[in-house]
Amino acid sequence: MDFVFHIPRQAEEIIEKLNSRGFEAYVVGGCVRDCLLGREPEDWDITTSARPEQVKELFGRTVDTGIRHGTVTVMRGKRGYEVTTFRIDGEYKDGRHPSSVEFTSDLLEDLRRRDFTINAMAYSSRTGLVDAFGGLRDLVDRRIRCVGDACDRFGEDALRMLRALRFSAQLGFETEKSTEDAVRKLALNLRQVSRERVQTELTKLLLSDRPDTVRKVFEWGLAPYVSETFAAMDAARISVSPGLPAVKHMRWAACLRQLPAGKAVQVLRELKLDNDTIAAVRTLTEWWNRPIGTEEAEIRRTMSRMSPELYDDLLVLKEAVAAGYGPEGAKECEAIPEPAEELIGTLSEPAENLARIRKLTEVIRGRGDCVSLKGLAVTGSDLLETGMKPGPDLGRVLEGLLNLVLEHPEWNTKQRLMEEVLSGNWKKTT
Ligand code: ATP
Ligand code: MG
Repeated sequence: MDFVFHIPRQAEEIIEKLNSRGFEAYVVGGCVRDCLLGREPEDWDITTSARPEQVKELFGRTVDTGIRHGTVTVMRGKRGYEVTTFRIDGEYKDGRHPSSVEFTSDLLEDLRRRDFTINAMAYSSRTGLVDAFGGLRDLVDRRIRCVGDACDRFGEDALRMLRALRFSAQLGFETEKSTEDAVRKLALNLRQVSRERVQTELTKLLLSDRPDTVRKVFEWGLAPYVSETFAAMDAARISVSPGLPAVKHMRWAACLRQLPAGKAVQVLRELKLDNDTIAAVRTLTEWWNRPIGTEEAEIRRTMSRMSPELYDDLLVLKEAVAAGYGPEGAKECEAIPEPAEELIGTLSEPAENLARIRKLTEVIRGRGDCVSLKGLAVTGSDLLETGMKPGPDLGRVLEGLLNLVLEHPEWNTKQRLMEEVLSGNWKKTT
C-alpha cells in the first residue's frame, strides 16, 4: 500500500536536525494513525534516540514538558512539538504509572510500551513506516487491539481500558474480543486512576462521532469506578445524539439528563470538570424537565431565566430527543421502565410543541426582543437620575421593568418604561 504522509515542514526539520547529529527520529503514535486514516492529526509527536539533554542542546527554544519521562517540547513559531526519548516503562506498581522510566536506543522497545497496535507505529521519510505489531492490519480491519497481552497491559495502566472505548468511539472501530474480556475482568482497577485522566477520556468519548459508546462504560463494568452517582444511572436510557454540537456542556448534559441537576453536578465535580461546564450542565439539567412554554411571552421568560445562550442549547437538546434520538422521543416510549426513585422523570417537551417553539424563538430573535436586564432600554443610572436612591430597590425596579418587557416587548423604550416607573406599574409584575 502507498501512503502519502504530509508531515508539517517544521516537524520534518526537527527530525532532519536530529538525524544530522546521528540520532534516529520519527513521528509516532496518534499522528501516524490519523495520517493513515486520512484524518488531520491534532498534534505531531516525535520520538528519538537522543536524550532529553541532547534535544535541549540541539534546539534553541524548548520547554521541559515532562523531562523526567524524556519529553521536551521544541518550539517552532507558536507551535510546540513534543520530542520524547525512546523509553521503556519500568514496573507498574500502582496500576497508574510506571515507577520509573528507562531510556533506550531501540525504537521497537518504545513502540512496545504503547497501548494499542494502531497507536504503536512510527514513520520517517528516511525509514518509511515502522509497524512492528500489526497496527496497519488492525487499521484496515478497524480493530482496537492491545500491544501484547491485554490483561498485562490493563494491569499496568487501567486508564487504557477507557482509552480503548474512547478510540472505538472516535474511529468507529470494534474492540478485539480478548481486549474486551480483559476490561470486564480488570474493570475494578479503574479505581486507581486519577479522576482527571478518567474525565479526559470520557469527555473525548462524548465529543466523538459515536457518543453513545458511553453505554459500553456500563456494559463492560467500568461505570462504578467512574463515579458512584454516574453508575446509578440507567444505562438503557442514556442516549447522546451525535447530531448535537460537539461541545462539552451539551454532550455531558445529554448524557446525564436522567439525573436530577444536583446529582449531575456531583458527577461532574467528582470528575473535576471545569466550573463553566458544570454551571452550564446544572442549568440545562434543571430545565430539562420543565416545559419551555408555547407562547411568546413564556418563551421570553424562559430565555431570560436561563440565559439566552443556554436557552438555545436546551432547545437543541430537546429537539435531538424529540427527533427520536433517545428513549424519551422513541415510539416505544411506554416500554421504558419507571425511573428509579432517586431519578426524576425525563420526559421532554411534547414533540409537537417544539416546532412551534422553534418558530416563535426565531420570531423573538429576529425582532431582537429584550430578554435580559442588559437589553432593557432603562438602566440603573437612568433611575438614579430621577432621584431614586441606590440600593436593592433599584434592582427590584429593573426586574419589574424586565418582567413588563418580557410580556410586552414593544414597551422597551426609555419613555414608556419611565412612565411605568412613575405610575408604579412595574410593581404589579413582581
Ligand atoms: P489524540 O488524537 O487524542 O491525541 P493520541 O493517540 O495522540 O490521540 P495521546 O493520549 O495524545 O493519544 O497519546 C499519544 C500516544 O502515546 C498514543 O498514540 C500512544 O502511543 C501513547 N500512549 C498514550 N497514553 C498511553 C497509555 N496510557 N499507555 C500506553 N501508551 C499510551
Ligand atoms: Mg495526541
